Amino acid sequence: MSMKKTNKETVGFQAEVKQLLHLMVHSLYSNKEIFLRELISNASDANDKLRFQALGQEDLLEDSPELHISVSVDKGQRLLCVTDNGIGMSRAEITQQLGTIAHSGTTEFLESLSDDQQKDSQLIGQFGVGFYSSFIVAQEVEVVSRKAGLPKSEGVRWTSKGDGEFTVESIVRADRGTSVILKLKADEDEFLDGNRVRNLIREYADHISFPVQMASENDEEGEQQTVNRAKALWTRPRAEIKDDEYVEFYKYISRDLTDPLVWAHNKVEGKREYTSLLYIPAAAPFDLWNREVPRGVKLYIQRVFITDEATQFLPLYLRFVRGIVDSSDLSLNISREMLQQDPNVSAIKTALTKRVLDVLKRLATKEVEKYRSFWEQFGLVLKEGLAEDFNNREKIAGLLRFNTTMSEGAKQDRSLDNYISDSGEKDIIYYICADSASSIRANPHLEIFDDKGVEVLLLSDRIDEWVMQHLPEYKGKSFRDIARGDLDLIGKADAETKTQPSKEQKHFLKRVKRVLRDKVDEVRISYRLKESAACLVLGDQDLGYQMQKLLKATGSEAPESVPSLELNPSHPLVQRLEGEINEEKFDSLAVLLLEEAIIAEGRQLDEPAAFVRRLNRLLINSDDADTQDVD
Ligand code: ADP
Repeated sequence: MSMKKTNKETVGFQAEVKQLLHLMVHSLYSNKEIFLRELISNASDANDKLRFQALGQEDLLEDSPELHISVSVDKGQRLLCVTDNGIGMSRAEITQQLGTIAHSGTTEFLESLSDDQQKDSQLIGQFGVGFYSSFIVAQEVEVVSRKAGLPKSEGVRWTSKGDGEFTVESIVRADRGTSVILKLKADEDEFLDGNRVRNLIREYADHISFPVQMASENDEEGEQQTVNRAKALWTRPRAEIKDDEYVEFYKYISRDLTDPLVWAHNKVEGKREYTSLLYIPAAAPFDLWNREVPRGVKLYIQRVFITDEATQFLPLYLRFVRGIVDSSDLSLNISREMLQQDPNVSAIKTALTKRVLDVLKRLATKEVEKYRSFWEQFGLVLKEGLAEDFNNREKIAGLLRFNTTMSEGAKQDRSLDNYISDSGEKDIIYYICADSASSIRANPHLEIFDDKGVEVLLLSDRIDEWVMQHLPEYKGKSFRDIARGDLDLIGKADAETKTQPSKEQKHFLKRVKRVLRDKVDEVRISYRLKESAACLVLGDQDLGYQMQKLLKATGSEAPESVPSLELNPSHPLVQRLEGEINEEKFDSLAVLLLEEAIIAEGRQLDEPAAFVRRLNRLLINSDDADTQDVD
């Protein structure tokens, strides 16, 4: 053993840990007793990990095969101690794990925090504060540990005052596993009170499958008593479990401080046997959009914890669901690869997917307010399901909520069923895609629909166009993008007689097309517009603007779509253009109409400066047709 290894060394916390420590101590103080849940959770995880590893390597259990957790207080020295006989940590592991934060995206997350305590405490809660929450109540924390399988001489002691650095040194330690010893701050006497601690354990750790033991109140040196129920929550009958217990269990597995929105606990017997307990969180985790973060349910096989991140049991678009699956059919020594292929797993996945969609449907019909908040948090993720899960497409579509021309205050509050029943059961569901939610309502394409009182879905999420490609119909109704192709709204025959251009108009349209050349496919008279002078219409097969952006963002080649320009013959500007004899002015006005149409859709011009110059020139010259053009 090298000298360095036995020597005590002082190590600085990673910058993010320092920041988190500071924020946490201040914004979680009103909730400070959660540190005990975090420590007991870690202890329980450590025992779970050892039990799993010992399946293939029994000698790891040494002479203490009964896994448990014990909590003790020392009033004289003001110590609170949480001990497990689980997997333990080596010197290298403790330095790494209790000095850094493993989550990717932590820096961005911390930067997103404000100075608003209320808000921060919620956000920090979702982040999962874990071990570091000890410093809310402790002035100093000591962790002693020995990793299972290592000799007694390779124990380790870690200490810190939470002020930026910690020490590690190698020690001799007989006991396998970890003790976390908190030296409590002066005003934290409540955690030295055995009864208070016992009550907290019952509140926070009743559902943990390991016994949590404490010395009896009268005999502090004496016999250990088990304080919690020590029975995994999901193994108990549903009728016996209180809502509080479900909520507490959620917080334990998710490390989320916010209560979940809803849950479903089911025991399946028969051909396959498994229990599932699935939760829909109330708030999205800060890293919901980070695709590298592994997600999934906690997997147990015959009560033995296997992994925290079993991603094989739910589709990606339900990645916000938290929970556990305990299967009796899978083999205990199943590998990750085998999980992927096991027919039991895919059958469970199909069933769980259906279960979650059913839970959401129930929420959507019975608890509208809750569903609304679910939709705000996770709607965009759920939408991905239309592309991902063909079999459940109709179910997912029924759960979507839209901002439409009939919505109140631009909220996503309308369902497809609302649309259908309020439309008098018409066969087509109209929609429009645009980049920005704030400008979409003013899109000129909507004018004729407003005029006729026909509802249009206003889609402005960045994946909407892509998603809609996977939703050709819903309950026998087809979808129609109103900014494309021919509009059948006013009836074909009607449209044709109305929009048959006169000879003069044809000549005029040709003139405009000559100016705009390949910027537009065709220039034609519009029957879509009521107020605006011009709009752009894509062909049925053209790639939309959102998809072009998405493709470009992924570095793919996106074929340019060339729209047609439609002009409103009753608009004064179009009429002025038609009567314009000055070639130069005609050209400028024609280009301006095209640019206006782009802007009105909420898109950006390729050359905004040229647009401004052109506009100014027209404004300056508008009073006096004989003035020379200025540039
Ligand atoms: P989290 O538990 O969310 O990963 P923590 O900050 O609570 O975050 O803990 C960081 C890591 O330290 C854990 O992932 C685990 O590897 C290790 N750890 C913490 N407590 C224990 C323990 N009692 N036994 C073994 N390892 C532990």
